[in-house]
Amino acid sequence: MNLEIPYHLENYIGGNLIGPLSGNFIDGINPATAEVFYQVPDSNEKDVEAAVHAAQKAFAAWSITPVEERFKILNRIAEVIDAHLDELALAETNDNGKPLWLSRKVDIPRASANFRFFATGIMHFASESHHMEDKAVNYTLRQPIGIVGCISPWNLPLYLFTWKIAPAIAAGNCVIAKPSEITPVTAFLLSKICKEAGLPSGVLNIIHGTGASAGEAIVSHPAVKAISFTGSTRAGERIAAIAAPKFKKLSLELGGKNPAIIFADSNWNKMLDETIRSSFSNQGEICLCGSRIIIEESVYDKFKKDFVERTKQLTVGDPLDENSKQGAIVSKVHFEKILRCIETAKQEGGKILCGGNAIKLDGRCASGYFIQPTIIEGLGPNCQTNLEEIFGPVVTLQSFKTEEEALQLANATSYGLAATIWTQDISKANRVAANVESGIIWVNCWLLRDLRTPFGGMKNSGVGREGGWEALRFFTESKNVCVQL
Ligand code: NAD
Repeated sequence: MNLEIPYHLENYIGGNLIGPLSGNFIDGINPATAEVFYQVPDSNEKDVEAAVHAAQKAFAAWSITPVEERFKILNRIAEVIDAHLDELALAETNDNGKPLWLSRKVDIPRASANFRFFATGIMHFASESHHMEDKAVNYTLRQPIGIVGCISPWNLPLYLFTWKIAPAIAAGNCVIAKPSEITPVTAFLLSKICKEAGLPSGVLNIIHGTGASAGEAIVSHPAVKAISFTGSTRAGERIAAIAAPKFKKLSLELGGKNPAIIFADSNWNKMLDETIRSSFSNQGEICLCGSRIIIEESVYDKFKKDFVERTKQLTVGDPLDENSKQGAIVSKVHFEKILRCIETAKQEGGKILCGGNAIKLDGRCASGYFIQPTIIEGLGPNCQTNLEEIFGPVVTLQSFKTEEEALQLANATSYGLAATIWTQDISKANRVAANVESGIIWVNCWLLRDLRTPFGGMKNSGVGREGGWEALRFFTESKNVCVQL
């Protein structure tokens, strides 16, 4: 199979690769070089209509395809992804700006793991029965919903796109999926992979384009019965406003402003290693990154010294260079937004302990969008910098005296996605975990993922959970059948 990236990407509708009906495209840019290297279809409701038509045609057969057959096809998709690891990793890095070693080690292997996980998951997906003594037996059917929409962001492009598509098709649905218009390349390549793996035409349809045009056309289409969305809280709000009056099922995975709570008794070196990772991995562009570091007062100065020293060692460079720990910021718009947030932090009285500026590299990356890992101190919980998501390599330091104060600081935002807790006192860890308002808590680790666990946030970080049975339940309609004995 040829995984070359054509200059004009195409939509994947009914098993065919076709251009947008409008004939319009958007520039696709490599953020490490600022060069346009492809064109993304600027699709609209007409393309979505064609995709819905193809999905409707495919649904009758796919919804009753035995789970053993769905298992085989999803597994084959995983195998084809693995066989093309190098090409996919390079495509992801050129599109997103993340280091190539990270795409190879994390993003692409996780995409195949998603298909493998839900291939086996659907084989074991059971439903309940409830006996009413000698009166009746109830059994619950979990049937595919029909046509569902999956919309994903730019930070972990293929990783998050497949995290939605795999459970949706495993459960017997047909899908209209839209990747971010900023990083659509690996989603385009997935069209070819699905063809190669023998996924029947129309089961997965991929529409490229902007949120306002292609995205809203998917969300508002009457035949699309459920929406699984990952992205910003603002877009989530808009999607909920469109979908709620139409009674669509909604799963919303939104923004975060995650606390990392560090107690004086933490395992220092491990905590430091992981806090560097949780602060700056993927240029800080992971919804789970800890952007507010909350440190017990007695070790604040020691933490500050060690953390700044370690952060200064992080090499920001060409994403293709194996030695680059940090790559490029995903786009010019996002790069400028992060720099504006750093300016705001300064105006609010924040002191920049390291970083704080854009970086100009030499050679092929001279025009790319690079920012130094940045640490800020001196800001209270109510300033904009500590309340709003920046989604870049920028963290703040705050100190606390008591466990109660740590919790107050941790819970002082409208978000509730993830938190990390560092202490060797297991009772304290459990107490704090129970009281932090986040859907995902890591104790003495970060981003240690078991795909069976519920994944998602509370408060403004989202509605519903992904992962394991949660995803398969979301993508099925439950129907209770009561049989009188
Ligand atoms: P975004 O909301 O701008 O876009 C996400 C996707 O939604 C894109 O495909 C976009 O085209 C589409 N979209 C935008 N507006 C839409 C609309 N009105 N209708 C339909 N679709 C629309 O987000 P982004 O900038 O791509 O991603 C960054 C955000 O995603 C951050 O806030 C980050 O925290 C969040 N995120 C959350 C998780 C999680 O699991 N909770 C994971 C990754 C990223």
